[in-house]
Amino acid sequence: MAWRCHGKTNVELISNMAQSKIIKAERVVNAMKKVDRANYVLRKDTAYQDTPQAIGHEATISAPHMHAYASEHLLPYIYPGARVLDVGSGSGYLTAVLHYIASEDPARPGKVVGIEHVPELVAFSEENLRKDGLGDALASKAIELIAGDGRHGHAQGGPYDAIHVGAAAPELPRPLVDQLASPGRMFIPVGTHSQYIMHIDKDKDGNVTESQVMAVSYVPLTGRPVIPD
Ligand code: SAH
Repeated sequence: MAWRCHGKTNVELISNMAQSKIIKAERVVNAMKKVDRANYVLRKDTAYQDTPQAIGHEATISAPHMHAYASEHLLPYIYPGARVLDVGSGSGYLTAVLHYIASEDPARPGKVVGIEHVPELVAFSEENLRKDGLGDALASKAIELIAGDGRHGHAQGGPYDAIHVGAAAPELPRPLVDQLASPGRMFIPVGTHSQYIMHIDKDKDGNVTESQVMAVSYVPLTGRPVIPD
């Protein structure tokens, strides 16, 4: 992309992205306006640029256009009250966006589980969500952050209407397919050298179909990095 969106404020960034049709769905625009990206990044000076940013522990907060893209692909499955799993939740930014989408009708709040295998990032994301005004959502467990290996999912919170995976899996993790609701959709980058976003769709009768959406480059979905003392 030769030209990147940016803004002086979060709302300006999201409005510019909507105007340039980088975000098309109004539900996603509304949710992304509520999540102030400055609360989820380390470098505040570039918080409102449409670029990824390192958040430590070999992790990256994705660029806002990727968060918008993932949200839009899952959107048809995130009705009010939906259950959503965010694997590799990192900064917590997308977990917050998915929360606002699943809970846009206050009468029917949804549930979003973020699972991340670096405990320091789980603590970072919790702090970020609190700074961003989501302390009550954490207290009521409308948002739950789990430290663990996302390749196994989180069966207790499922089945999930939508599953987002934020790191590339060498192959499709079976437990995540099992934890998809009928109907449900998983958005997951799969592959090692060449990676593709895949849609894994489960229909109302439990039939699973896989389709390739686009070529991407994500950090790998792995075992935890071993930090030498
Ligand atoms: N979507 C997040 C983070 C993306 S980076 C954001 O935008 O902030 C990918 C994340 O996946 C990293 O935080 C990394 O630690 C995590 N990850 C990689 N393998 C994992 C696994 N097996 N289980 C849980 N998290 C994992």
